[in-house]
Amino acid sequence: MEDRPNPLGETDERYRRFVTEDFTGMLVMRTDGQIVTCNPAVAGIFGFDSVEEAMSANFFAFLRNRQDGIELLETVRQHGMVDRHELEMTQRNGDPVYVVTRLIGNFANGELTELHVYLFNDTKRKRLEQQLVQAQKMEGLGTLAGGIAHDFNNILAIILGYTNKLESSHSKPNEFPGAIKVIKEAVERGAALVQQLLTSARQTEARFSSVDLNALVRELESMLQATFPKTISFHLELAPDLPLITADKSQIHQVLLNLCVNARDAMPAGGTLTLATSITPGPDLTEMFSGVTADSYACIRVRDTGIGMTRQVKSHIFEPFFTTKERSKGTGLGLSVVYGVVNNHRGFVQVESEPGAGTSFIIYLPVKHLAAEQLGGDRTGAPRQDIPQTILLVEDEEMLRELGVSMLQSEGFRVLAAKDGVEAVALFESHSDEIGLVVCDLGLPRLGGREAFLKMKESKPGVRAIVASGYLEPAIRSEMLKAGVIDTIQKPYDFNDLLAKIRSIIGPQPVTDDHPELF
Ligand code: ADP
Ligand code: MG
Repeated sequence: MEDRPNPLGETDERYRRFVTEDFTGMLVMRTDGQIVTCNPAVAGIFGFDSVEEAMSANFFAFLRNRQDGIELLETVRQHGMVDRHELEMTQRNGDPVYVVTRLIGNFANGELTELHVYLFNDTKRKRLEQQLVQAQKMEGLGTLAGGIAHDFNNILAIILGYTNKLESSHSKPNEFPGAIKVIKEAVERGAALVQQLLTSARQTEARFSSVDLNALVRELESMLQATFPKTISFHLELAPDLPLITADKSQIHQVLLNLCVNARDAMPAGGTLTLATSITPGPDLTEMFSGVTADSYACIRVRDTGIGMTRQVKSHIFEPFFTTKERSKGTGLGLSVVYGVVNNHRGFVQVESEPGAGTSFIIYLPVKHLAAEQLGGDRTGAPRQDIPQTILLVEDEEMLRELGVSMLQSEGFRVLAAKDGVEAVALFESHSDEIGLVVCDLGLPRLGGREAFLKMKESKPGVRAIVASGYLEPAIRSEMLKAGVIDTIQKPYDFNDLLAKIRSIIGPQPVTDDHPELF
């Protein structure tokens, strides 16, 4: 400070008071963080009793994340200063303190020697902001819980109603298939709902494989044509040489479905829904998005001739639970799923919309880009003929266990069943030569699925296992695969899916890799 001209022409004393009384923390520090001098506000911000105490401290010791210090120094070295940078720091007693800071470098012969640091205590505002975010989350959860409870109750009512019907002594066998179909559809609806929620929370594992977007769009169009009002006409503009992309097919399907449903809702009086694919060079996108890394992007445009959006609505659409629709019509999750999925694929979403002039959503997905380790996909090897056809099924839910046993038996497998990890390990150890495959739930009483598997592996390193779970975080999945589990399956699974996995590991029949949409 001393080496600057006194801008106001004040006396030294007035200038000194100016600095002492200011509530902005001001300090001079060396590049190792040692504080050389500071004003009382600094002591206040970090909870010291006196300026002297504060002056014996190291600035970097207050940083919540030491890496921040290294980066700040580097920026000052390169650019001379850092302006309005938000930092999370800690007070002497460990309490968090949020500051907005400005750092200015002092250089001697091109070497950074000292830094002038200005600190504005922003903790109060930050706390309010955090509370607001929390409050909004809770509000959103409330809305969401209401919506889900409603949907699930309907689903359960359908299932209950039809099982009652099947149970009743008046039911006729020729009505069974119809009732079973309805029950199955209701279950699929429930599972799809859970899936939407998990996808929006980005907790589902993505299964990456090569995807032909044009084929996906055609498939979707024929499905929608059958279900959307006839007042909506479809128009396809598909680029002929669209390359395959690496993506999770069912997630991209979900993205397009959500966009098309929104387009339908935006055209209550009918209109045209256009689905177009094309290819865009990466460099063309750098102005619009940051983080463009691929050479080219496959792009899908979903355009409607509907009501469009105001600028105000447009600024909120990707927020979870934001909806302008009636409660029963919208959850406000559709576009947050779109955003989450596209982001997960390292792609981008663009929106063009004007009130009354329709809306276009444009999705950009990188062509050939994702690293090999993300291509988890199907790790199952060629089917083996010589593996014992006995399956150890470990499931704590009694009904599911019984159902699994009878289904597997009807497919010709011999089945041993266990209801928890301890029982599973005991059964495995006494029958390890007969058991060709273990199908094991992850969350089990007494001994968890993971631990049970590790024990089995200890007693027989070649044990083959599929792990099932309703909540399989990618990290846990990859850890399980690393530990030697052959495959995982997300619950609730379609039994045919499980069967396909089982057959691909131990069964004689080869399998196709066609997964049903929702599981
Ligand atoms: P929801 O459809 O359940 O309301 P979304 O996240 O899918 O939730 O969409 C959020 C909001 O974005 C919608 O309520 C609507 O206001 C707006 N919106 C989305 N797509 C369109 C569209 N194609 N035309 C006009 N408005 C749209
Ligand atoms: Mg929607």
